[in-house]
Amino acid sequence: MGNLSDENKMTWRKELDKLESEDRLRRLSLPQGWIDFSGNDYLNLSRHESVIEAAQQAIAKYGTGSRGSRLMSGNQPLHEELERALAERLGYESALVFGSGFLANLGLLTSLLKKGDACFADRLNHASLVDGMRHSGAKFYRYEHNNIDALRQLLKKSPVEGRRVVVTDSVFSMDGDFSFVPEVVQVAREHDAIAVVDEAHAIGVFGTDGAGICRDLEQDQRPDIITGTLSKALGSYGGFVVCSETVRSLLVNRARGFIYSTGLPPACAAAALESLRIIKDEQQQGMFHLGDQLMNKAATFYDMLDSAGLPLSVFQSQIIPIRVGENGPTVRVANRLREAGVIATAIRPPTVPEGTARLRLSVTLAHTEDDLQKAARFIEKSFREEELL
Ligand SMILES: *Cc1c(COP(=O)(O)O)cnc(C)c1O
Repeated sequence: MGNLSDENKMTWRKELDKLESEDRLRRLSLPQGWIDFSGNDYLNLSRHESVIEAAQQAIAKYGTGSRGSRLMSGNQPLHEELERALAERLGYESALVFGSGFLANLGLLTSLLKKGDACFADRLNHASLVDGMRHSGAKFYRYEHNNIDALRQLLKKSPVEGRRVVVTDSVFSMDGDFSFVPEVVQVAREHDAIAVVDEAHAIGVFGTDGAGICRDLEQDQRPDIITGTLSKALGSYGGFVVCSETVRSLLVNRARGFIYSTGLPPACAAAALESLRIIKDEQQQGMFHLGDQLMNKAATFYDMLDSAGLPLSVFQSQIIPIRVGENGPTVRVANRLREAGVIATAIRPPTVPEGTARLRLSVTLAHTEDDLQKAARFIEKSFREEELL
């Protein structure tokens, strides 16, 4: 049919077969199992009664879509309300909501940077940050994961003509470890660079009122700009940037993924707003912060895996990687677990460096202690069956 010639198809088939032979082929599947460790709905808010209700009410009032770009007719009161709430919660002047976290990062870095500028990024930053700096036309440097000295050396050595941006995740997606935000910000300041931090995995989970890791730092240790997602702990969909009023205007005028893409559906904005409210109210009413509940659960699970002798790194967050190394055994363990009804993602290159394939488990508040115990036993069994333990 059309230009999907047999030749094209054969080439692609070959490329896909090569991935398959290297155990790197990705496939879509419907999550089927009694326990899912692959999701990012950390606080189980996507199923919270009042979050669902808020989304339903927004649909009834505003319809299912936002009908246009925010710059055309798509701007809605809920977008602006959500932006005020995010700016206030994270302690910045203003905020801009995007169609996704990926678009927010792409839009931010391509707006801040152009040819002649330079971007300095942690090697394990999220793909959306990598793509953002690539598309910006700026020269980019990737420093060894969490190595502040390496960052400092790069900043010292690189030419200083254009604008400079330093960017890091605050909690890294694949290892679940933290970056040294105050140090990154300080080094950036010393070298006249703008500091950007992506709090995608921290929003809702860490910090006062779930405002992320940066919220509780001293004022002069906080980054210039923070990005995040509504799609993880907030249980909704969409992304955002919190920043100064000027940067917000810049984004509205420059970020192509904001200008030429339809505004976030009202239901997504309403759900995120309700999640933000729940996270704060639970804390104020003296109830145990949802993020703390999650961390307790994750620590319990970590201990179970640790006592089984599984190869873990130090405990840091709700994201727990189990090291395997080669792709083949990682995929086989994940398949064994899937057969047992446990969904855990096999993380392989190019997402992580060659030879560091791992199983990645994220704990959520939907998991019961009994789930975790059973899952830990299955994981141990699968590792033994693959002779990894
Ligand atoms: C998930 C994630 C994103 C992308 O957010 P989406 O809303 O899913 O597009 C960006 N940055 C980091 C660090 C993430 O983990």
